Amino acid sequence: MINSSTLFSDAKHVIPGGVNSPVRSFSGVGGTPVFIDHALGAHIFDSTGKRYIDYVGSWGPMILGHAHPDVIAAVKAAVDKGLSFGAPTEIETLMAQRICALLPSIDLVRMVSSGTEATMSAIRLARGYTGRDKIVKFEGCYHGHSDSLLVKAGSGALTLGVPSSPGVTAAVAENTITLPYNDSAAVKALFAEIGEQIACIIVEPVAGNMNCIPPVAGFLETLRQVCDQYHSVLIFDEVMTGFRVALNGAQGLYNITPDLTTLGKIIGGGVPVGAFGGRRDIMECLAPLGPVYQAGTLSGNPVAMAAGLKTLDLLMQPDFYPTLAAKAKLLTEGLKARAQQAGVAFTTTQVGGMFGLYFNAQDNMTCFAQVMQSDQVLFKRFFHAMLEAGVYLAPSAFEAGFVSMAHSDDDLAQTLASAERVFKSL
Ligand code: PMP
Repeated sequence: MINSSTLFSDAKHVIPGGVNSPVRSFSGVGGTPVFIDHALGAHIFDSTGKRYIDYVGSWGPMILGHAHPDVIAAVKAAVDKGLSFGAPTEIETLMAQRICALLPSIDLVRMVSSGTEATMSAIRLARGYTGRDKIVKFEGCYHGHSDSLLVKAGSGALTLGVPSSPGVTAAVAENTITLPYNDSAAVKALFAEIGEQIACIIVEPVAGNMNCIPPVAGFLETLRQVCDQYHSVLIFDEVMTGFRVALNGAQGLYNITPDLTTLGKIIGGGVPVGAFGGRRDIMECLAPLGPVYQAGTLSGNPVAMAAGLKTLDLLMQPDFYPTLAAKAKLLTEGLKARAQQAGVAFTTTQVGGMFGLYFNAQDNMTCFAQVMQSDQVLFKRFFHAMLEAGVYLAPSAFEAGFVSMAHSDDDLAQTLASAERVFKSL
C-alpha cells in the first residue's frame, strides 16, 4: 500500500509537477494531491483504501457516478470489437443523431477528442465562415488551452495566476478581446465600435471555471442580439454545462439558440471526447465539404462513443434532471445554513447538477471581480478539513463542483455533518 506522498514524489521525477493537468497538483490549496486507485458510484478511493465522497466527478463527466455498470458493460463490448479503426463506424452516426435530437440548434456535429479541440476548432470555423479575425471571450471563462483562448482564462490558468501564458504570441492574443462576464453594456459598446470585425463570441452560458456563475437576466439575450445584428457567430461552450444543467443544455434552460455549440465531458462518459456542432451553413464550411480544415486520428473513437452514448441513454430517464438538481440544492442550501449557524461568511450558487462555494459575504455572485474577493485562505482550510473528513471537493476556489445521480441521501447527509463540524472549527 503506497501512500499519496510517495506516489507524488515518484511522479514528480518524471511528470512536470507530478500531474498531467495542473489543477490536480493541489497548487490552489497546497499539500499533496490524493492519488486515486479506483472509484464506484459517488465514492473515490485513494491508494491506501481511504474513501472520499466525490464532488469533482472527473471535473464533470461522471454524472451517473463512477463505474456505472451499464457504461462499463458498453465499453467492454466495444473494446472486444477493437479499439480504433480510423474509418467510419455506425456508432458515430448514432451519437451524432442523439446530439442533434437533444440540442435542436445543432444540424451537423463533428466529434473530436477533448474540449480544447472542440473550442479551438469552433473558433477556426467561425473565423473561416465570417472571414474575420477578432474573437470575444469573457474574463474568468475557460475554453481549453488553445493559444487564442488562453487570454485572461479561468480554471487552472486562474488558480495558478497565469491568465495569459508565455508561449502565446502577442499577435495571437491581439485578436482576442476579453470583456467582463454578465456585462451586457460592455458587449454592446464593443460591437457598436468594431462589430463588423468580430468573427464570434465564445461564452460559457453558465461560467464554471471561475467557480459557478449563472448568467444574469438579459446577458445571453444580448449576445444573441449583437451576433444577429453584426453577423458574428455565437458559440456556446457547453463542454461543462452540456447535459449537466439540463437535458438540452444551458441553451435549453435559458432558451437561447447559439450558432455553434462545443461539447465534451459527459458525452464521453469519462473517456476522452469532445464535439462541436451547429448551423448547417456554418458546419458545411468544414473539410471535406468546405475549406476550413479540421481532423483527428482518434476522432469518433468507438470506445468513447460507446461510453458516451450509454451515458446519454441513462440520463434521458424521466425525472433525471429534477432529481439531480434536488441533490445539488440540498447540498448547497445545507452548506449555507451550516455556515450561517457557525457565523462564517459563505454563499453558494447552483444550476442543475453544478454548484459553486464562496467564502464571501456577498450573496449574489455575478462576475469575476466578486469571485476574486472571496476568502481563499478560509477556502483552503475548509477544503483540507473536509478532505480529512472524507469529502473530496474541487482543489481550487475557482472551480465548479458536481453532484452525480449516485450521491445518496446518506452521502449528502454525511457531507453536511462533516461541513457542520468544519465550519465551527474555522
Ligand atoms: N470548455 C470548458 C467550458 C471547460 O470547462 C473545459 C475543461 N474544463 C474545456 C473547454 C476544455 O476541455 P478539455 O479539458 O477536455 O480540453
